[in-house]
Amino acid sequence: MNQPPEYCPYCGTPVTGVETPMLGAVAVETPMVYRCDSCDDYVFYNPTPGGSTAVVDGESLLLVEDFRASGEWKLPAGRIELGESPREGVARELEEETGLSVDPAELTYFYDSSGEPVAEQYMVNVDYAVPRSKTTGTVDAGSDATDARFFTPAEFADSAYSLRESHVDRFGTDSLEWVLEEARRALEE
Ligand SMILES: [Zn+2]
Repeated sequence: MNQPPEYCPYCGTPVTGVETPMLGAVAVETPMVYRCDSCDDYVFYNPTPGGSTAVVDGESLLLVEDFRASGEWKLPAGRIELGESPREGVARELEEETGLSVDPAELTYFYDSSGEPVAEQYMVNVDYAVPRSKTTGTVDAGSDATDARFFTPAEFADSAYSLRESHVDRFGTDSLEWVLEEARRALEE
């Protein structure tokens, strides 16, 4: 479950929360484990995994414009689907949103985070970097993106665009320069 369950998904009986110790960095008041007395089993309230890809071309990063909000840009990102590893998921999202293909094995981890982008819907994010030279294809926005292009941090700052709130929350900063530097550092190691 990605939101606090009220009913057992198997039999429909109302479930009750079980007290769980708070271990994560983000304070979560809601119980994370629920119990169905009818099934004599537990129902779990879990975060959804997601991730992004920073495609680095020299001093530029590939950004996509979100279909939900004109003028708001972010790294190509999305939720991991059933059966995918994090790097397989972000590689699929990259191709869907930008037209660029990448071998998931070519992706280099550079950051991870947790957050609550929608009330009571938590996510864990894993972010990867890859040089443009290790991707193939032509940049062509698709799927959830209305536009896709490379920006230097200065070009983006001079534009009329802003970063999407989910991107700023994910990295804890609205500095594209920081994201670019972190991605480049990981690629140089
Ligand atoms: Zn049940």
